[in-house]
Amino acid sequence: MHFHIITIFPSMLDSYLGESILARAIASKKIKVTTYNPRDITKDKHGKVDDRPYGGGPGMLMTAQPILDTVKKIIRKKKTAKWKVIITLPGGKMLSNVYASQTVKKYTDVIIICGRYEGIDARVKKGLKVLLPKGSSIDEVSIGDYVLTGGELPAMVMIDVMSRQVVGVLGKIESLEESRASSSEMYTRPPVLLVDQKKLIVPKVLLSGDHKKIDEWREGKDKKKLGK
Ligand code: SAM
Repeated sequence: MHFHIITIFPSMLDSYLGESILARAIASKKIKVTTYNPRDITKDKHGKVDDRPYGGGPGMLMTAQPILDTVKKIIRKKKTAKWKVIITLPGGKMLSNVYASQTVKKYTDVIIICGRYEGIDARVKKGLKVLLPKGSSIDEVSIGDYVLTGGELPAMVMIDVMSRQVVGVLGKIESLEESRASSSEMYTRPPVLLVDQKKLIVPKVLLSGDHKKIDEWREGKDKKKLGK
């Protein structure tokens, strides 16, 4: 899976992608992440990538030209790719594991557009429909019901959740945990933890070695938590 991230702050991604599972996935070529800065391609003579909204209103909007020209440049280089383009948007469809796994199964390349300021000129979405080859897909996606200052954190969350779905990115143990993601109550050593005077004890069943019972206990806990 190749992620193409369009952002005016490309270095924001470096530290997160430079550690742990994602760094290993990049090193082993299971995933690839390329960043593109619209400032490098803007036709504005002062190098601007934002402007005032027509009709008035607070703040600035990201202009369409540098973003659309960046997309054009990206898709020109890979003729056989299957493109998913994601515009990060607080009011977009909610990111989920299901969305991530369907995207990974269906597409080879994901372009994520990180908004800043008060958002992005609406003609980016309209222009994408003109530019993208048949079989591509465009979504506006939110990572939660709140407003962040920019699309870079959402892009990193999306890369993370989708990469976990790419075969070989997670090790065997972590993959197992993925299928058990619903185990809500987990414990590790020591079996008895003293907090001030109070003993906090690991449930006996988890120390029993009886995996059938352990699974039943976990399922019971999760049902309770979900109110089933
Ligand atoms: N005025 C915009 C609105 O109310 O929808 C908010 C713009 S926000 C300050 C700037 C950018 O951050 C957005 O264009 C989007 O790219 C990104 N963003 C903020 N919150 C987000 C969220 N919850 N999910 C996805 N992207 C988000």
